[in-house]
Amino acid sequence: MHIPSIANLIDGRAAPAASGQTFEKLRPADGSPLCTVARSDDADVLAAVAAARSAQPAWATLTPVERGRLLRELALALQARREELADAVVEETGKSRELALGEADAAIEMGFFVAGEGRRLYGRTTTSATPNRTVLATRRPVGVAALIVSFNTPLPNYAWKAFPAVFCGNAAVLKPSEHTPASASLFAQVANEVLPPGVLNLVHGLGNEVGPPLVEHADVDLVSFTGSAETGRWINERAGRRLAKVCLELGGKNALVVCDDADLDRAIEWSLASAFSNAGQRCAAASRLVVFDAVYDEFRDRFARGARNYEPGPLISEESLERILGSLDGAEVAVGGERLDRPGWWLAPTVLENVAADADLSCRELFGPVTILYRVRNLDEAIEVVNDSPYGLTSAIHTANLHRAMRFADAVQAGVVVVNGGTHGSEPHMGFGGVKQSGTGWREAGVETLDVYTEWKYVNLIADPAKT
Ligand code: NAD
Repeated sequence: MHIPSIANLIDGRAAPAASGQTFEKLRPADGSPLCTVARSDDADVLAAVAAARSAQPAWATLTPVERGRLLRELALALQARREELADAVVEETGKSRELALGEADAAIEMGFFVAGEGRRLYGRTTTSATPNRTVLATRRPVGVAALIVSFNTPLPNYAWKAFPAVFCGNAAVLKPSEHTPASASLFAQVANEVLPPGVLNLVHGLGNEVGPPLVEHADVDLVSFTGSAETGRWINERAGRRLAKVCLELGGKNALVVCDDADLDRAIEWSLASAFSNAGQRCAAASRLVVFDAVYDEFRDRFARGARNYEPGPLISEESLERILGSLDGAEVAVGGERLDRPGWWLAPTVLENVAADADLSCRELFGPVTILYRVRNLDEAIEVVNDSPYGLTSAIHTANLHRAMRFADAVQAGVVVVNGGTHGSEPHMGFGGVKQSGTGWREAGVETLDVYTEWKYVNLIADPAKT
């Protein structure tokens, strides 16, 4: 059987790792080999950063309108290949084709949204205490951006960073997850058919080998990272030493609250999707369900039935499956909790009960199809449980009461609040990000993302009326 080999893409050209090393990527759905991939190290990072550095000045001299036009072409090129992109994602993650196509479309929509900024990229003018002085605040590119992303929704993950980074006049080095090399290669290949060489480079490899030289490279002006809090903390420390700009989008332990006046059919449907879609491998997954005492028993029985019938998806790796199974040791499992008897890395959708709100399991993100039920007496207690977490990414509440919804929205410590829906479901024009250990204060997508990929420059114009 022929196993394809996947290379880096540096300065517009495919290149194996300089060392000639590769690693093997397996299919999560059945554990079979999918491809071998360039196992890059310092030498490849140096080449990619050099290509980005040399391409960036000319790229930045194009007008935002022209960069937006090229990115619209890229979005159209991706749209023409959406099925192929989705197929790559299905193979390398094991998720359903429907989910993968939805993600391809979300990535493409992000492209169109960012491309439209070409006709905006608004700055500001401001008043001055000095007569005849005009001040213009304008956005300038940061320079060379390292884009390091997670495996979970690979195409949107690339699109959320690559489109705005490049649109703003930066050149970039994309470091995809070692678990999703095929979609990253296809994305970068299509991008390099549209963009000048060196503007978007791709370096594959294992996080702990190829990540550090990228994060520590003196010529990388911005590190934009989506992944775990643990890796994010390391990156912040290392990049912080050389005072590089760092944007971190990290994990979540998101809570969905079900009040006693909730539409239970709707609450159960959204709770199942929020907890288990994409095998729970979503930063916005609902891994905590906080339910009012008055409806707890009914909710638990119906939710448990739904969990037993939920179509599972595989986890990304054997290591991830083992880690999650290990963390369930000693917990009270109401549903699931075991590996499915089939090849690949499948965990049954899992529901836990009677876990203390401050227990390790309540605080640690598992990144799998595991959710915990909490019983609370009222809204005050619900808000207390929801906020008793190191994370604060997304949240949801199910209630028919506007006052409860507004009080929750006000009090919850999270970057996103949804009333009567799921904990996920962001769109390209909506800023996304969290508080506490879910991030470092940036918002991706929306026009907010422009703040990540640009620096403000204040231009002072002083006119002398005597010289007219
Ligand atoms: P991870 O932290 O293990 O890896 C993320 C990326 O970092 C990968 O590309 C990996 O290769 C790379 N990496 C690993 N070590 C590195 C190092 N020392 N230096 C530089 N790069 C390194 O995370 P993961 O398992 O891929 O993803 C799951 C995490 O991502 C979860 O915590 C999830 O919540 C989070 N996530 C957050 C968002 C968000 O928008 N907030 C979105 C998606 C996923």
